[in-house]
Amino acid sequence: MPAKTMDSLVSLCKRRGFIYPGSEIYGGLQGVYDYGPLGVELKNNLKTAWWRCMVYERDDIEGLDASILTHRFVLRHSGHEATFTDPMVDCKDCKSRWRADQIKNGKCERCGGSNLTEPRPFNLMFKTTVGPIADENNFAYLRPETAQGIFSNFKNVVDSTSRKLPFGIAQIGKAFRNEITPRNFIFRVREFEQMEMEFFVRPGTDEEWHKKWVDDRVQWWKNQGLTSDNLQLYYQTKEELAHYAKATVDILYRFPHGLEELEGIANRTDFDLGSHSKNSSELNLTARVDANEDSIAKLTITDGQENPPIVPFVIEPSAGVDRGVLAVLTEAYTEEQLENGTQRIVLKLKPHLSPIKVAVIPLARNNPDIVTVSKEIKASLLKLGIGRIFFEDSGNIGKSYRRHDEVGTPLCITVDYDTIGKGEQAELKDTVTIRDRDTMKQIRLAIDKLPEYLREYFQESANKKERV
Ligand code: ATP
Repeated sequence: MPAKTMDSLVSLCKRRGFIYPGSEIYGGLQGVYDYGPLGVELKNNLKTAWWRCMVYERDDIEGLDASILTHRFVLRHSGHEATFTDPMVDCKDCKSRWRADQIKNGKCERCGGSNLTEPRPFNLMFKTTVGPIADENNFAYLRPETAQGIFSNFKNVVDSTSRKLPFGIAQIGKAFRNEITPRNFIFRVREFEQMEMEFFVRPGTDEEWHKKWVDDRVQWWKNQGLTSDNLQLYYQTKEELAHYAKATVDILYRFPHGLEELEGIANRTDFDLGSHSKNSSELNLTARVDANEDSIAKLTITDGQENPPIVPFVIEPSAGVDRGVLAVLTEAYTEEQLENGTQRIVLKLKPHLSPIKVAVIPLARNNPDIVTVSKEIKASLLKLGIGRIFFEDSGNIGKSYRRHDEVGTPLCITVDYDTIGKGEQAELKDTVTIRDRDTMKQIRLAIDKLPEYLREYFQESANKKERV
């Protein structure tokens, strides 16, 4: 059962160290959040799963990490300077500002008045000064999408990898949008991360690739634990399409505040590469010097056949990391009534996403042998490279289990008197208890069998393809 309210998620995230409001000690900065000790692990695990699926498991996609600060001409010729706007209205009564398309029944959300201005376009891009002199022409943009870094490096990547069509470039990184009304926790923020991949194809094959990428991306989200009931596709109408898109399919997720966009998969045609080809000062300079070359359309590629180089079309799956984190938290959050009448909160995260993979718990904190064995187990499991292994000696065993249920740790390993040969059951020497988060069932396993058991357990989670 998904989280009932956003409040329950916000509270868990703060309490357990997943997500905090940004600059909180000075009252916070609206639309900005920080990821805490467990949040950073969850977020990294989600990004790693995406990178693995996009770059490592395929043979036709390369990675990239372009800069955030972007030359204004890149964003001028991508169309963002002119069109990357939201319609804004002001409430003349209480002076608040709203996105016109989110206003309900023509009424101000704060004071309820209907004395609103006409909508006017508001550009969402952040500008910043570059260098010591702050004058009007001396600025760069913080990128509003990671995609433009891919388009502006297209020639570099093609030249340095000798790629032919079809092929893609994947990137994960920060993007910034000066949203008029950031809201719904980390759903709509001003600083966020995107996982974007531009897949370059021969025009004419674009519609087929678009469909394939929509299917692949839905499958991937299911592999991260999202269920079909909470996922839906939305085909944007002509009026809704961004300036660069021929068609866009949104993957919607049922967040606590409603069914909203998690990822968009756009057919961007040759809009971006075409525009940069025409407008790039550097490409056109080279073209003029080399008289044999066409003076425009320099961002081209071949398909490995006899055909001349072309400006390819591009299919772009663009997902928000923060919205992804919110979706997997929503799906995983469960409140359970236990048989003994108590209640527990458990985060049923897929094990490969869990911030802590295994908690190793010494049953008696003051017994040096138990502590030593626990630490040895932790050190040996760390070598498996499956992620964070946590030495948990903060309190009693019941409290430790509850705490790890709440943060989604799939397995707890307890080291007790039997493990060190000082318990009542001599045959349990050198064995430990493994407790499963979801079923709360416990099994006893020999310490030397742990690496194999855990390797299989976590590999299965990372490789499991959920049924579509
Ligand atoms: P929306 O309609 O919700 O404003 P969008 O259509 O403008 O989103 P895109 O430009 O398609 O979003 O960006 C791709 C992805 O980046 C989105 O699907 C979303 O996951 C993420 N994203 C966009 N804007 C934000 C934001 N302000 N905060 C968090 N994530 C965002």
